[in-house]
Amino acid sequence: MTVERKAGGVRQRGEGAREAAGVQRADGKPAGRGGSTSRARSRKRGGWLGWLAGVWVLLAPLLAGGCAEESGGEGRAIRAVTTTGLIGDVVRRVGGDRVEVTSLMGPGVDPHLYKAREGDVRRLFRADVIFYNGLHLEARMGEVLERMGDRTRTVAVTDAVPRERLLAPPEFEGAYDPHVWFDVTLWMAVVERVRDELAALDPEGREEYEVNAAAYLAELEGLHRYVLEQAARIPAEWRVLITAHDAFNYFGRAYGFEVRGLQGISTATEAGTGDVQALASFIVGRRIPAMFVESSVSPRTIEAVQAAVRARGFEVRIGGQLHSDALGPEGSGADTYVGMVRHNIDTIVSGLLGEQAA
Ligand SMILES: [Zn+2]
Repeated sequence: MTVERKAGGVRQRGEGAREAAGVQRADGKPAGRGGSTSRARSRKRGGWLGWLAGVWVLLAPLLAGGCAEESGGEGRAIRAVTTTGLIGDVVRRVGGDRVEVTSLMGPGVDPHLYKAREGDVRRLFRADVIFYNGLHLEARMGEVLERMGDRTRTVAVTDAVPRERLLAPPEFEGAYDPHVWFDVTLWMAVVERVRDELAALDPEGREEYEVNAAAYLAELEGLHRYVLEQAARIPAEWRVLITAHDAFNYFGRAYGFEVRGLQGISTATEAGTGDVQALASFIVGRRIPAMFVESSVSPRTIEAVQAAVRARGFEVRIGGQLHSDALGPEGSGADTYVGMVRHNIDTIVSGLLGEQAA
């Protein structure tokens, strides 16, 4: 786990102000280490009062918000920021009304390629707690998250998964596969971690977090059984899942599928012609009826495989679109973790069995 420092700022105004002052001295420039120091010094030369006034002007909107919220007596909601929508969904379910959740990555966004934007940095600075996946899923946000860890409680949720249950495929050169959410039982460990982190940050809410988490965990147990039952409908020789990138290794292990991804574990490396040809001959050799596109990855490479298969005189369907690394759009039914997992297994079953898409 990566709790660098307790973010006691939730209900302690002094702490919050000190942190906020840190934000403003950095002047909205996330990487500006040297810049922020020299700026602070020049303010000091301009006089202590002047510096205070400057800070106050910048801070006023933040503090005013904080004071108004805290004057209610009950204390404001905890601000949680998550990288992926998947993690946001967990925090929302466990946190209930006590936690205000912001997810940086929206529906269909590829976390392997995502870089923090200007607005993200502001949201991260205002957070009481930051939850991210870890295991290098957010490859291009590593530096930002690491820096945030020095000032805010920052939690890699996959730290909750015992190392011996993680997969480390040989092609990933010793690193772990980050896509743990596809084994529902592993994601349940993440739910427990979120519950414990929220309770540590907000002890008054402990009971509520425990009740919420227990209800959610029961739902996830049911979801796990559902996926097992649906997977069992597919004849063993067809239980092969072919997708654009290697997101489904945990799914394959948990639910009995052989998994082939065209692009490897991260989408950062493009599939080559050799990969397309190799996958095409695998499909023809095994007479696999369907493969699947992913919502957060371009369908182009999977379509190239389909064409290569056709050139060999065999037909492989595109069985539908799976949500691999991001939730579906709001109202799609796949806009929650549970909805997404159900959508995926229903699509896989109907795609491989040649039924009407679910
Ligand atoms: Zn992925």
